[in-house]
Amino acid sequence: MFELSHITKRYGSIDAVASVDLVTARGKTTVLIGPSGCGKSTLLRVMLGLITPEVGRVQFDGDTVSADSAMMLRRKMGYVIQDGGLFPHLTARGNATLLPRYLGWDVDRASKRLEELAELTQFPADGLDRYPAELSGGQRQRVGLIRSLMLDPDVLLMDEPLGALDPMIRSKLQEDLRAIFQRLGKTVVMVTHDLGECAYFADTIVLMRGGSIVQEGSFKDLVDSPTEDFVTEFVNAQRGVLTAMGEA
Ligand code: ADP
Ligand code: MG
Repeated sequence: MFELSHITKRYGSIDAVASVDLVTARGKTTVLIGPSGCGKSTLLRVMLGLITPEVGRVQFDGDTVSADSAMMLRRKMGYVIQDGGLFPHLTARGNATLLPRYLGWDVDRASKRLEELAELTQFPADGLDRYPAELSGGQRQRVGLIRSLMLDPDVLLMDEPLGALDPMIRSKLQEDLRAIFQRLGKTVVMVTHDLGECAYFADTIVLMRGGSIVQEGSFKDLVDSPTEDFVTEFVNAQRGVLTAMGEA
């Protein structure tokens, strides 16, 4: 699916991403996790072709992601960001069908696809003609997901898709999302800073720090065979929060 070789992306004197090699598996969920500022979002945007790295190469199904190919390849990629990233002046329907309309789909085809996806994501039909401000956070996020799925992309890239939601809604949407991924057999690359969420979704966890990958593996690998002290510190710090809340 994605094959990243030696990716470096600099901002001024900072290496936001520093010499990263990564291969993601088709049909699986890969989760990028790590402290704030470690380069997760930058790496995801490099995969999408939204940012061009100074060094290295990204391949998507054998095609090199470049300034020239990015527009075409991005149609095979769904991108979901925190809070849905919806345009406030468009209804849920307007937001979800933006790209199909741009691509010249007829109205019936776009409506039919939208209805299918509203059902899949359990988005209420009477919400489709509301504006983002008239929807709940969870509903906005479902619209963001619908929009990303309209063209039936090969891969979904999600940047903290549940980060803005309160815990009850978040937990319901986590369950729904995982069921949707399983049902569609989608390849997913997700960013989160929450280890519980990461363990819930990930087939493979990619733990980052300071622009580099520290360890790649299952949750069990990180707990049982940490490659360095930081891995254990990161896992324990997040467990500490859970224990303090009486959940672990
Ligand atoms: P994360 O998503 O893990 O929190 P980011 O990828 O957003 O981290 O950022 C990685 C580093 O790159 C941080 O030091 C951040 O300040 C810096 N950075 C990200 N985007 C920009 C930008 N557009 N301009 C300058 N610095 C940036
Ligand atoms: Mg980020």
